[in-house]
Amino acid sequence: MSGQTTNEQEFARARGAMPGGVNSPVRAFGSVQETPRFFVSASGPYVTDVEGREYVDLVGSWGPAILGHAHPAVVKAVQDAAAHGLGFGASTPGETELAELIAARVRRPNAIAGPVERVRLVSTGTEATMTAIRLARGATGRDLIVKFAGHYHGHSDGLLAEAGSGVATLAMPGSAGVPAPIAAQTLVIAYNDLDAVREVFAARGGDIAAIIVEAAPANMGIVPPSRGFNAAIADIAHAHGALLILDEVLTGFRVGPAGWYGIDPVPFRPDLITFGKVVGGGLPLAALGGPAALMELLAPLGPVYQAGTLSGNPLAVAAGRATLDHLDDAAYARIDAAAATIADAAASALSEAGVTHVVQRSGSLFSIQFAATPPVDYDTVKAQEAFRYPPFFRSMLQQGVSLPPSVFEAWFVSASHDDDAVARILEALPAAARAAAEA
Ligand code: PMP
Repeated sequence: MSGQTTNEQEFARARGAMPGGVNSPVRAFGSVQETPRFFVSASGPYVTDVEGREYVDLVGSWGPAILGHAHPAVVKAVQDAAAHGLGFGASTPGETELAELIAARVRRPNAIAGPVERVRLVSTGTEATMTAIRLARGATGRDLIVKFAGHYHGHSDGLLAEAGSGVATLAMPGSAGVPAPIAAQTLVIAYNDLDAVREVFAARGGDIAAIIVEAAPANMGIVPPSRGFNAAIADIAHAHGALLILDEVLTGFRVGPAGWYGIDPVPFRPDLITFGKVVGGGLPLAALGGPAALMELLAPLGPVYQAGTLSGNPLAVAAGRATLDHLDDAAYARIDAAAATIADAAASALSEAGVTHVVQRSGSLFSIQFAATPPVDYDTVKAQEAFRYPPFFRSMLQQGVSLPPSVFEAWFVSASHDDDAVARILEALPAAARAAAEA
């Protein structure tokens, strides 16, 4: 095709214009030793690169594309909104509707009320967790934050210590540029370890503003919470006058209509919940929510400042509303079924090839761990044979399946992964498993 470039050419050019050729580190494909693909379009479960190659996509824009790419109803909602103006820097009725929708959805089955009475819309998951932490500090008058190793909550200064996602992929302990006094405000402990939680609260409980947790961790691969873990840490935090910030940026509205909060086998009470990805339907929008008494400590009502030029942007709000509107029980059933089929087929292919592995699952989220036993925390995640993932990934890519370019990331299935798309993934798995075996 004339005028067409290659992924190689695009990457070379991009590296001259942007650090590493990317605007978010994992996109550089460094850990899988492959040329990143430069995409030009996407539809349903498929993405197409600059060379005109189509791939079945299991990245899903890292979560937002839960209905499939360019879902007609979402695209139309955004087009309609755009025709009325790209943003006003003032309030719109749509923002209230989205906030009401979030509050109404985040309920336990049959509950008449949920933990979200007020919502603030922001533009990224990073802003949502950063604001939740400021709010927790403002509410408690305390400074310390407890986080778990391997959990990722965005890239704000205080949350990069032993973080998951790209920080884990690049094997970085944290980030340069974070002042030591700020890093010292974050206490990092092992996940799924209630003794560690009890100990840190016994030692510093009076100074801890909040404990922040991924509702079901998915940024060090999938590591499900042990049964009752979220409830236990909520109790410990509350007993010490601290808050529980439940980070559902990734799991929210993905693992079920009410996120992980709605399906955790043991009910619990988070104080603040953060959302992102799905709630923005593919455009930059995220949110935090909680009880009115807490949320109304935010400016303009309270002393905790937070703001945003693009917060509640009408296009992003339209995309989010359209996405939530189409996420009905049937959509979740399709996602769950496709995820189960792909996860089971990956396990079979790896077993057949003699590769030691476990497939880790939290609802429809799953990932492969190249180890004999399921990991429970970041240390056990890191102990796996991670070197088997790059050849597995490259084989899948060569066969037309786009996986997350890191063993530490979840595989994102959408409601548009129909039988054809799933069949293409299943066909590619045996050769990829053999490549992993030979690594
Ligand atoms: N929290 C979690 C659990 C996430 O998975 C992410 C992003 N992967 C974030 C926060 C940060 O969101 P964003 O990239 O939109 O800033």
